[in-house]
Amino acid sequence: MSANILMKRLPRSAASSTQRMLRVGGITPFSATDYPGKLAAVVFVQGCPWRCGYCHNPHLQPRLPGGPLDWTRIRNLLQRRVGLVDAVVFSGGEPTIDPCLANAIGEVRELGFKVGLHSGGIYPTRFNEILPMLDWVGFDIKAPFDHRYERITGVADSATAALDSAQAIISSNVDYEFRTTIHPALLDEDDIMALAQTLAAMGATSYALQVFRAQGCGSATLNAVPVTGYPSDDLVQRVAALFPEFILRRN
Ligand code: SF4
Repeated sequence: MSANILMKRLPRSAASSTQRMLRVGGITPFSATDYPGKLAAVVFVQGCPWRCGYCHNPHLQPRLPGGPLDWTRIRNLLQRRVGLVDAVVFSGGEPTIDPCLANAIGEVRELGFKVGLHSGGIYPTRFNEILPMLDWVGFDIKAPFDHRYERITGVADSATAALDSAQAIISSNVDYEFRTTIHPALLDEDDIMALAQTLAAMGATSYALQVFRAQGCGSATLNAVPVTGYPSDDLVQRVAALFPEFILRRN
């Protein structure tokens, strides 16, 4: 989901006084697709150090110290959603980039919401800290945990952090879905199968393949490659057989 509803930016003077608050780039007050089986509000946190070509929220990649949205206003908005939505999902960008995430989660829990997180596991230490506060995690896994990660994120050794966080989820009692966005120019079917086998061997129980969507993607290179017939039915069946829960998403 893209951050399609933006709130008014703070004046610069006011923004400087909120540096110890979560830096938010947008909010979607109602979503039926960002937390399984629940209506949720989605809070989009600013900042991500990775540069995936298929990113649908590239405007959230920079951290903008002079221009965050006002967390206090967002929290008040969420308070008015009590009884209307079941959950609040922190998305991004990469929400674990923000040192104020745990406080924000705590405030949301006090309002009585379930709490979800969309993350690529980029900051394993913070990810481990907040994991016990969560009810559900939608965890993006980019590629097999080796040099192929960097091919997608543009950042050397990015697989290490993602693997640490993925292992933490499996070891926890938190519900989750591992999900991988797939594009034929980035992951061939051998790559996908290798990743699925690794996840299954780690003990993963829930996995989704999400076929690349050109809509909202700014990469002309990726958009130019057709995805018709990808992945093959044979591959989908072989991956599905590895997990108790599996879904293929096409849009
Ligand atoms: S990790 Fe997510 S937010 Fe960051 S660049 Fe990749 S797709 Fe975009």
